[in-house]
Amino acid sequence: MIKPKLIQQFVVEPGSAVNLKQYVTDWTETEEAQELGKDVIKERAHEVLEESRKQLDATQELLYASDTHSVLLIFQAMDAAGKDGTIRHVMSGVNPQGCQVFSFKKPSAEELDHNFLWRYMKSLPERGRIGIFNRSYYEDVLVVKVHPEWLGPGQPANPDDKFWEQRYEDINNFEKHLSRNGTLVLKFFLHVSKGEQKRRFLERLNNPEKHWKFSEADLAEREHWKDYQKAFEAALSATSTKRAPWYVIPADRKYVARALVADIVTTAIQDLGLEFPEVTPAKMAVLEAARARLESNSNHAET
Ligand code: ATP
Ligand code: MG
Repeated sequence: MIKPKLIQQFVVEPGSAVNLKQYVTDWTETEEAQELGKDVIKERAHEVLEESRKQLDATQELLYASDTHSVLLIFQAMDAAGKDGTIRHVMSGVNPQGCQVFSFKKPSAEELDHNFLWRYMKSLPERGRIGIFNRSYYEDVLVVKVHPEWLGPGQPANPDDKFWEQRYEDINNFEKHLSRNGTLVLKFFLHVSKGEQKRRFLERLNNPEKHWKFSEADLAEREHWKDYQKAFEAALSATSTKRAPWYVIPADRKYVARALVADIVTTAIQDLGLEFPEVTPAKMAVLEAARARLESNSNHAET
């Protein structure tokens, strides 16, 4: 497990004004990391991922058995920051029946005709399950803040600050509602540098096996890098709460991002202090009777 003190530096303190430049994108470049050495960090990161993956499977089973909570994990990032890979690696050990991933793309006409939270509400995890949003209702204060013309019919052409503040407020109230109803909400911003994004785009262009991943639209959005960073800063500042905290995860090194997310998710679910349901005396009697019946059957031929 990673020390809580180390994790603390990635949490957005509720009410604080986020300046993304103050959050590292490559944690291996920090002083504390250099003391350890890059090779040690890489090895340790793989160990943490492995350890967390195993624990997460057992923890999810407990989540299902106790049937009191659900978990919602939200992933937001610039393109090529590694959302898909992180989700795949962190969740790879979990029983597929215990988790659901939803990827949100451009909304349909039907979705745009509803309130902006509608399409997400329909995909929330039920009790006992881990739900993952690969992009989420945060797109509705991010991409559309950069491109207000994509807001859809019936929305202002030039939304003012109040418009966005009301959306942040709606999101905070929504997450409060979720939390009060037993959903643990954790939000991850995979923080990648502009230079690393360029490297990853070039890799997609240079490697034939990665050509399918390249989208011209991603390059167009890269031109709006500063506007996106500003939109992220405003959204993270307004919506990081005790109940539903934001983590700014350094994402230039995939192994660092994956280990951090895996550790944070596992620890947070374990901190819920869930327990297997207590077996009632009546149920115990049924179990005992079943055992006696099976054991007496074992005297007969088992064909
Ligand atoms: P990948 O590229 O790794 O497959 P992705 O999440 O980038 O995954 P894409 O299909 O490339 O998937 O992009 C989805 C697009 O949909 C993004 O550009 C995103 O900003 C956009 N989008 C998501 N939600 C909304 C929304 N509410 N309003 C407008 N655009 C949205
Ligand atoms: Mg994309």
